[in-house]
Amino acid sequence: MDRLGKALERVVDAYSRQGVCEVCGGKLIFQGCGEYVCEKCGDLVYDDYGKVRRYVETHTGASVIDTAEATGVSQDAIRMMIREHKIRIGS
Ligand SMILES: [Zn+2]
Repeated sequence: MDRLGKALERVVDAYSRQGVCEVCGGKLIFQGCGEYVCEKCGDLVYDDYGKVRRYVETHTGASVIDTAEATGVSQDAIRMMIREHKIRIGS
C-alpha cells in the first residue's frame, strides 16, 4: 500500500469504523464532508458527521434530540460538531 493509501486509512479510522464497504467488502474512499464511496461498487457510506449533516440538511429546524434519534449519533457528539461549527442545528 502506498503512503496516500495509508494516510487515507488513518482518516477513515479517525472518523468512522466503516473502513470497508458493507455491501461488497471493498475499500471506502473518503470524499469529504463525512462521505465515503466504495471503490468497488460505488456505494455511498456516511460516517457520524456525514449522517448528521445529511439529516440536518433535509430536516430544517430539527433539534439535537431529533437528530440524535434519527441518526443514532449521540447528542454529545452532535453538540461537539455544533461547537466546532461543522453543522448548524435548530434555532
Ligand atoms: Zn462496495
